[in-house]
Amino acid sequence: MAYEVPDLAYDYNALEPHIDEATMRVHHDKHHQAYVDKANAALEGTEWADKPVNEVLQNLSSLPADKQGPVRNNAGGHSNHSFFWEIMSPDGGGEPEGDLASAISGKFGDFASLQEELKNAGIGRFGSGWAWLIHDGSGLAVVSTANQDTPVSDGNSPIIGVDVWEHAYYLKYQNKRPDYLDAWWNVVNWAKAGEHFAAAQG
Ligand code: MN
Repeated sequence: MAYEVPDLAYDYNALEPHIDEATMRVHHDKHHQAYVDKANAALEGTEWADKPVNEVLQNLSSLPADKQGPVRNNAGGHSNHSFFWEIMSPDGGGEPEGDLASAISGKFGDFASLQEELKNAGIGRFGSGWAWLIHDGSGLAVVSTANQDTPVSDGNSPIIGVDVWEHAYYLKYQNKRPDYLDAWWNVVNWAKAGEHFAAAQG
């Protein structure tokens, strides 16, 4: 079955004032839809067309050579954005809890240090990409990826992730990516992050 853009679990304006309604509308309805349409077009007629998107992204090198680039970019975009909508919530913000909070303290010292490291990863990503807190199989790490590359392709599990493409913030924050990254913490869905962390630990 072809990929589809998932509905948001909240209204387009629900993340205001941190993420504005106009950005959410164009980001979800236009940008994500374009990734889905192009991913479907690239996979159509291949044995991979009905596979879960993350399974495809874990096996990019097995795809036909002429499909690998389009699928990496567009299936990657589909996976990353589907993750992104769920890792934000109007009930988000605050701090992680439970096992995830303990793991963050153990790895980074405290939550503020994780915030600083993730912000630096987002600021340091030249051009377009993402900043992530991942579980790499042995523990937590902060990484960034270019374009629509995803940690999933490297066998890692995203715990939280923030889109630093200009389309994610430019309408409200213009060139001030650091301000967007600061505001983003107010909408992070730590309950969902905790689910990702529990799943990653197997
Ligand atoms: Mn985006």
